[in-house]
Amino acid sequence: MPIVSAVPWLKRVESMTANEVAFGTAALQYNLASPAKLYLWGMTASDTCVSCGLRATESHILSNCPARLNSAKKGRHDSILMCIASWLRKHLRDATVWADIEDFRGAPPPAGWTKQRPDIQVARTFRKGGAMTNTLWVIELTVPSEANFAAAELRKSAKYEALITEYRSAYDSVKFTHIGIGTRGVILQDTDDEVRAGMRLCGAARTVGLAKLWEECSLAALRGSIVAWCAARQDVVEV
Ligand SMILES: [Zn+2]
Repeated sequence: MPIVSAVPWLKRVESMTANEVAFGTAALQYNLASPAKLYLWGMTASDTCVSCGLRATESHILSNCPARLNSAKKGRHDSILMCIASWLRKHLRDATVWADIEDFRGAPPPAGWTKQRPDIQVARTFRKGGAMTNTLWVIELTVPSEANFAAAELRKSAKYEALITEYRSAYDSVKFTHIGIGTRGVILQDTDDEVRAGMRLCGAARTVGLAKLWEECSLAALRGSIVAWCAARQDVVEV
């Protein structure tokens, strides 16, 4: 099946500022004025990142720089996580939703908070073939550069393999889903398909509701990337 991607924030441009739209448009064209690009154009004397010394490409600043952008990256991740956790809690009325974020920790999930702390855990009980079935849905969110979706998926699947096996002794069914929202707000069709299947919802929430969630997540990713970009520029000014 082909992997089709979408940029849901494009449906929200009327609620965005001109600067946000300009940044997002340039980012989607891989045309932001990164230090690496400015150097290539002969406008600066160096293409290195002032925070870590590595080559400062767009992707480096938006997602890969190991230094000084961690708080911006965490803020971006958690703002998207809040969108998803709130949405699940609103639409999955028969489920218990835990998320590793303020307001969603509360009582620990049945298996407890483990060292690995998956971003979201959703426990639900279904009637299946006359018997009640306890299910757990483990969700991990990443905000990778669009070129690194596949690597993020592999990394997260491997990281939680042992935990999922452990959970299987306590639940009738355990499912793991990796949700990748790109730093430019791109979302893969595979992600949409997996979440749609995991929800087991019918009606508007499954269609229009989920589309709205992706718009919120995509816009949160873009706005978080703007914060990360400005933090990098702040570094330049300070130096
Ligand atoms: Zn750096």
